[in-house]
Amino acid sequence: MSFNDMNKEQLHQIRADFPILTEKIYNKDLIYFDNGATSQKPRCVVEKIEQGYYRYNANIHRGVHYLSQKATEEHEAARTTVAEFLHAGKREEIIFTRGTTEAINLVAFSFGEAFCKAGDEIVISVLEHHSNIVPWQMLCERKDLKLQVIPMNENGELDLEVYKSLLNDRTRIVSVAHLSNVLGTVNPVKEMIRLAHEKDIPVLIDGAQAVPHIPVDVEDLDVDFYVFSAHKIYGPTGIGVLYGKDIWLNKMPPYQGGGEMIQTVTFEKTTYNVLPFKFEAGTPDYIGSTGLAEALRYVQNIGLENIAAHEHELLSYGTERLLEIEGMRIIGTANEKSSVISFLVGKIHPYDIGMLLDKLGIAVRTGHHCAQPLMDSLKIPGTVRASFAFYNTKEEIDLFVTALKRVVAMLS
Ligand code: PLP
Repeated sequence: MSFNDMNKEQLHQIRADFPILTEKIYNKDLIYFDNGATSQKPRCVVEKIEQGYYRYNANIHRGVHYLSQKATEEHEAARTTVAEFLHAGKREEIIFTRGTTEAINLVAFSFGEAFCKAGDEIVISVLEHHSNIVPWQMLCERKDLKLQVIPMNENGELDLEVYKSLLNDRTRIVSVAHLSNVLGTVNPVKEMIRLAHEKDIPVLIDGAQAVPHIPVDVEDLDVDFYVFSAHKIYGPTGIGVLYGKDIWLNKMPPYQGGGEMIQTVTFEKTTYNVLPFKFEAGTPDYIGSTGLAEALRYVQNIGLENIAAHEHELLSYGTERLLEIEGMRIIGTANEKSSVISFLVGKIHPYDIGMLLDKLGIAVRTGHHCAQPLMDSLKIPGTVRASFAFYNTKEEIDLFVTALKRVVAMLS
């Protein structure tokens, strides 16, 4: 069945998997349009986590007893689930991290140590989240490198001609978002990877916003590093993933030292563990990993193509309805766009709109969305952002637009 043909009853059943969606906020039905910041959790994910703590909680990898072995099995099975989800060829190319941010920091540090020297260049884009800017800036400061930034056009699409001109023999790595958390732009990452590879430059793709909405195949993309956070794809907070080709990861030094990442330790010298453990110092979030795997199974059960189709309908419908409002300015009108709508209305401050919508039970995000350089380039202080998930409905969009009209009338 296509999600497009889904009748109200089926959507109702899906929504019933998310208990929070029936919460009342100030006595109003919750409308949750802040999925770009974090997604809500289906019952099965919370139950999987509960089961882990109640039934087989024990520290993994080191124990000979039953519980430790069971917890290890579950954690390593979760790694396999992630590898399959991303279509990674080898499960040891999946490193568990605390999230997207830690995964990018890991690569910026470790790749930087192994491969970068003074005068080299790192290419990012103007629409990056701070998590894909600051770790590279820190590397640039540490090693005296230069940060190069791909600009975009007025629709929020990256300028590929300038991108090509930025790739040269000093470029060590390209790091760009798959999907912009502010503009919703889906970047042509496959083409960007191909162009970088023509010059033997590896590419990191920040998939934080993409994985909940777009099927990702790292082998088809031929991407060198791909990162995402569990909490944005209906999984728990505090865990995320770095996919990296083993040809890179094997040459990169560990990011942190401690238990698990070692093979032997003496006071004179430590030798490091094999992949993936070399990059997983300390007790990992072995319960979170199983919650993430459950979330991925949940999403796969619905089908990412079905999710993308439903969310695309929400995006088109939401855009059309929002444009009814006088003074509406949608920020980000790329041809390839996912279910994020950033906007401003007249001269009203986004924060005021967000505050009043909240009082009506509607959760949207306001501000710079951790993308201050993007806001500077657009010459705006911030936006209001509505970001949809597959459990959202057109009826919610109608209620949102009615509420927004009221809010705008009050603030104008
Ligand atoms: N990259 C993008 C595009 C994001 O949207 C976000 C979070 O909003 C991040 C990175 C950071 O993710 P996390 O805070 O889960 O590490």
